[in-house]
Amino acid sequence: MNFYPEFEVVRNDSRCIRCRVCERQCANEVHWYDEDGKIMLSDESKCVNCQRCVTLCPTRALKIVKSDCRLRENANYSDQTIKEIYRQAETGGVLLSSMGNPNPLPVYWDKILINASQVTNPPIDPLREPMETRVFLGKKPDHITRNEDGSLDTKLAPQLSLSMPVMFSAMSYGSISYNAHASLARAASALGIYYNTGEGGLHEDFYKYGKNTIVQVASGRFGVHKDYLEAGAAIEIKMGQGAKPGIGGHLPGTKAVGDVSKTRMIPEGSDAISPAPHHDIYSIEDLRQLVYSLKEATEYRLPVIVTVAAVHNIAAIASGIARSGADIIAIDGFRGGTGAAPTRIRDNVGIPIELALAAVDKRLRDEGIRNNVSIICGGSVRSAADVVKAIALGADACYIATAACLAMGCHLCRSCHTGKCNWGIATQRPDLVKRLNPDIGSQRLINLMDAWRHEIKELMGGMGINSIEALRGNRLMLRGVGLTEKELEILGISHAGE
Ligand code: SF4
Ligand code: SF4
Repeated sequence: MNFYPEFEVVRNDSRCIRCRVCERQCANEVHWYDEDGKIMLSDESKCVNCQRCVTLCPTRALKIVKSDCRLRENANYSDQTIKEIYRQAETGGVLLSSMGNPNPLPVYWDKILINASQVTNPPIDPLREPMETRVFLGKKPDHITRNEDGSLDTKLAPQLSLSMPVMFSAMSYGSISYNAHASLARAASALGIYYNTGEGGLHEDFYKYGKNTIVQVASGRFGVHKDYLEAGAAIEIKMGQGAKPGIGGHLPGTKAVGDVSKTRMIPEGSDAISPAPHHDIYSIEDLRQLVYSLKEATEYRLPVIVTVAAVHNIAAIASGIARSGADIIAIDGFRGGTGAAPTRIRDNVGIPIELALAAVDKRLRDEGIRNNVSIICGGSVRSAADVVKAIALGADACYIATAACLAMGCHLCRSCHTGKCNWGIATQRPDLVKRLNPDIGSQRLINLMDAWRHEIKELMGGMGINSIEALRGNRLMLRGVGLTEKELEILGISHAGE
């Protein structure tokens, strides 16, 4: 079935100088030069609206617009639904997508507002007064004892120390490029935070960033060996992912090339398919076995994180994880990004992170086991305000990935699964990878985090709070707008005006 393209390339011919930059820059081969007519032409059917050509056109001759060519209006069958049915009728295949759920489901962050001090309990000026953004992730003791000289007698469980409550979440080498990983690793190291290998193993060049690296163990166990486990500052067991709860991962063979296949320890060109379950985990007891096996393998030096997708019974699941010996729980909401996911799964499975986070924090507090674990919140944390709201809802820290990709140049074209990322992030094509300069990529990540750190301090100062610790779980600082009684109850916050 031949559709009218989703996007139209609009070229202002009077401005176009035929430099052919757009032709050279487009991995999707949208643009070409017609020698006979001495004119630039476009095949719009290949355009994914990544905006590379628009950004680099020296004369601003280009714009990409959404086509207004529509099938007859139908409130039940949208254009997209009809086209997806045509496509599946043609191919018989599962539809694939990338990045997070783009559908207009409620974003609770935007329905929550933050308090500010007025008159009494005055605000704190973060430029003039100390403000603590450092956090420690890991099991906390119920009480501590000190020796006579004041030194700590209690033996603390291993902790991750973060200069601010934000980290870069799991993106595997393979799903993203070498230069994207280099940017994340360097930025995490400079910022005193952590980045996460995802399930693709750790390239030998990045072992030097080990003390700022979280190494992941997923169901496929790609790239997992003793040196890998020992190289990181923490080990993460990936049980689920917000963008595709209940299913495994799939890196197409076309991306498993060169160092990617070597790092994953799989043959070049073979699909890397992680099974949906870990085949040795069917209960919390089984999970406990793996948690302690990993602790044993690393002499109990490293905290173990268990990451799960936000699903319906997340509070009960988290309670089990907190009892499994894990030090940290990471919850990934349904808007979380991905390099590739079946569209139906991405758009219909899971629950919003805000509700999941509040439910987990409450359950662990009610059961008296909140100090057994730290909580990381991920899955569409878009700004410093989202971070502050997440901390007030009970998180110890947040994971970001889509925002980190945006900082490195991503334009959210949602085409990562094609391997032709024009911005050098979600690709293994050498000519595309080199478009992302790790010096620039890491500096932009550092800038973003510095900006967020300032904003977090300002927001906290406005509330009269001077540390993340004092903000954590402080729901009195939040109010809901336009939420139902049930939503407010789950979030554990009052409505604005109350
Ligand atoms: S990049 Fe701009 S100026 Fe150069 S050929 Fe393309 S449209 Fe014309
Ligand atoms: S990483 Fe690249 S391919 Fe993926 S959404 Fe961003 S710009 Fe598009």
